[in-house]
Formats: sequence, C-alpha cells, structure tokens
Amino acid sequence: MTRKILLNPGPATTTQNVKNALVVEDICPRETEFGDLMHDICDGLLEIGNGQKDYNVALFGASGTGAMEATITSAIGKEDKVLILTNGAYGIRMTQICENYDISYGSLFEYGDYTEPAKVKEALTTKQYTHLAFIHHETSTGMMDPVDELVAICKALNIVSIVDAMSTFGAFPYNLSDLGVDYIFSSSNKCIHGMAGLSFVLFHNNQKEALMANGRSYYFDVYKQWENLQKKNQLRFTPPVQICYSFMAAIRETLAEGVETRWERYKANWQILYDGLLDLGFKPLLPLDQESKILLALKLDGKEGFDFDHFHDYLYKRDITIYPGVMPEKATFRVAIIGDLYPDDMHRVMEEMTGYFSS
Ligand SMILES: *Cc1c(COP(=O)(O)O)cnc(C)c1O
Repeated sequence: MTRKILLNPGPATTTQNVKNALVVEDICPRETEFGDLMHDICDGLLEIGNGQKDYNVALFGASGTGAMEATITSAIGKEDKVLILTNGAYGIRMTQICENYDISYGSLFEYGDYTEPAKVKEALTTKQYTHLAFIHHETSTGMMDPVDELVAICKALNIVSIVDAMSTFGAFPYNLSDLGVDYIFSSSNKCIHGMAGLSFVLFHNNQKEALMANGRSYYFDVYKQWENLQKKNQLRFTPPVQICYSFMAAIRETLAEGVETRWERYKANWQILYDGLLDLGFKPLLPLDQESKILLALKLDGKEGFDFDHFHDYLYKRDITIYPGVMPEKATFRVAIIGDLYPDDMHRVMEEMTGYFSS
C-alpha cells in the first residue's frame, strides 16, 4: 500500500498498525468484550487529556460535528444563553447548530479576528450569558485561541465553558484537571490519528446534573450516552465496530509516543512547511504569534498566475494531498501537519513543491 502524505486537516495519515487494526473477527457490540473496549477507549482519552480525576467521556458514532452538536444540545438549557466566538468557520458552525435547535446565543468576532480575552471578558460581564463556546484551534484559519485565559475568565465569572478541541486533542498537551474546562470535544480522525467515525465529549463531574436536565437531542444526548455505557457496558446505538478497534490502536500509539513528544514533532513539521512555503513566495494568513503550528493557511493573492487546482493535482499524483481554503472571500489554501508525519515527509513535500515552481 502506498503511503500517502495527507496535508488536509484530517482524516489524517495513519500508521499501518492503525489500518491493520480494522481487520478483526466479527463481534456483536453488545458483548462484554466489546463493552470493555469502549471503556478502554474512554480511559485512554482521559489519559491523553490528563483528566482521569475529574472528567467523564461520552462516545458517539459520528464525525466531529456530532460531538459539537451533542455538546451544544446537551449542555445548554432552555433558559440559558451561549456566547460563541465566531472567528472562523467552525465557530460559525456552532451558531448554525443553535439556530437549528432554537438555542439562544450571541456571537463575538469576525472571520480571522484574534479572540482577544479582554473583549470576551467584556462581553461576558454583561451578564446575559450562561455559557461560552469557542474553538481552541480554528482549523479554517490555523489560529490558536488562548484557551487558558478564556477558560480562566469563565471560571472567574461562573460561566460554563465549552471548547472544541477537534484539531488539537492528541497533539496539544492538555492538563484538563488544571484547565478546569467544563466540556471539551474532539474526534477519532484528527490529532489522535485514527479512522473517521467516532467522536467524543469529555465533561467535568460538576456538569452531570446540568446534562441530565438539559439534553434535548435524541441521539446526541451526552448524559444518556455516558450513563448507558456505565450501567449496561454498551453504547445506546450501534457503534462503528471496526473503527473502535482501530481507534484504540491509535490511542495506544498516542500514549506511547507521548502527547508532549507529538507536540514537538508537530511544531518541527510545521516549521519546515512554514519556512519552505515562505521561501517559495507565499504569505501566511496570520501573524506568527497566532499560528497554531498545526495548520498553515497561505494567501493566494499576489501569486500571479498561480492555479491552486493545478498545484493540487500535481502534488496529488505524487501522493501528497493539500487542502483548499474555506472562506472564498479570503483566498487561501491550507496545509495541516496532523497525522503520522515526520520531518522527512515535510522535506519531501517541499522538494515536490519546489519542483513544481521550477518546472
Ligand atoms: C474537523 C473539525 C470539526 C468537525 O468536522 P467533521 O467534518 O464533522 O469531522 C469541528 N471543529 C473543528 C475545529 C474541526 O477542525
């Protein structure tokens, strides 16, 4: 099997071991053996986030947006109002979920804005909000939000915090017990390097009562999903069986590498692309101090005659996948270093890209 270098922000390049783990004997997911696997997955996720002491896990057969929808519809009650930081496509997605469920919300920031903690604090002190929801790493721009400061503001003001950690969890070193965030969610196919099909919500012990009272979705009910696994040793609905085995292999690999080590690897990979693409004349969308070091968005304006699709196809034929930008009004393309990728891969990417521009 040819090893592909995926620079799209997940599903990512996986190891052969994670691929092989998909092939398992047929099993009914209601068997104890499978229930034990679900618990092992939850324990592994808590270990990745250093949240064993204070957090619980609800697993869903769904893409990442499922976990987003589950958290928003389970955490926010009928009398509540959430402030959503809409500085990118994923923050905007949260507002769309609120629209669909008639959840009351306000929004702050425009596409590409930095989520200035002072402005968030000012908005929250108006007292109209009970919850704050934001994206730790806005995968649409590559911006890293100041998660520590934002959660600390919530704690000081008694606001419930909801963090989308989709494109950080597994690579960014969280200490959830110190951070004290109320809800944080992610999926199997980003920085944990598993296959797509599972997403998960980690919630703080102190949110159980709120969850019991507020759940308004049938399938995406965080409390019921968690409780069912505790009481019946199975998920409420059919899980993607083979994906679960493969995800467990990816979790083990994450823990074996160590999140801190993975984070250093990501930053080293990112730097190679950043230096190389700037050498090729591209300009980054963001100032350096806002960059996540997980994804890099590059501007297309000022690149006379550059055709993204042609560039994409040239690289795709050479087993490298790059990713278009997300907002048409900000013409960009994106490269993410999420996945089982190493500096040698990044050097190969830069060789092929340099080859394209010199041919
Ligand atoms: C990938 C991603 C999601 C979820 O996307 P799915 O396509 O549903 O998996 C949500 N938020 C962020 C920040 C993401 O990067």
